[in-house]
Order: sequence, then C-alpha cells, then structure tokens
Amino acid sequence: MEEFVYAGDATLSRPGSNAELSAWVDYVYFRDNPAGPHSELWYHAAACRQFLKVERDTRTHVISSAELA
Ligand SMILES: [Zn+2]
Repeated sequence: MEEFVYAGDATLSRPGSNAELSAWVDYVYFRDNPAGPHSELWYHAAACRQFLKVERDTRTHVISSAELA
C-alpha cells in the first residue's frame, strides 16, 4: 500500500445541474497537464485516511503547502 495516493486535480469545480453536456464531458474526462505549480488532492491512505489539498510543482515535485481538504 502506498502511504499517499494521488486523488486528482483540486482545481476542478462540478458543473451546475443545468450545464451543457460539453461542460460535463470536460469535467469528467479532460484534465490539464500543467508544467509548474498545481493544486492537487492526495489521500493519506496509510495513516489518517484524510484528503489533503497540496500545492506541488509538477516539474520538481516540491510541495509548497498542504492542508486538509
Ligand atoms: Zn494524514
């Protein structure tokens, strides 16, 4: 078991109930692949089992902040 598990892009916001189908397709299937600082969700699977919002640079893997999501 991994201690921390990547749980997705923390910048996404769920479309409203009346949103166009294309907004749902973007939300469910498409992700940016940024080179640089990025907000991510991580799951602390091997310990407290909480989700964290982590600011991580995707080029260097340096984490600049982390807080409970
Ligand atoms: Zn934890």
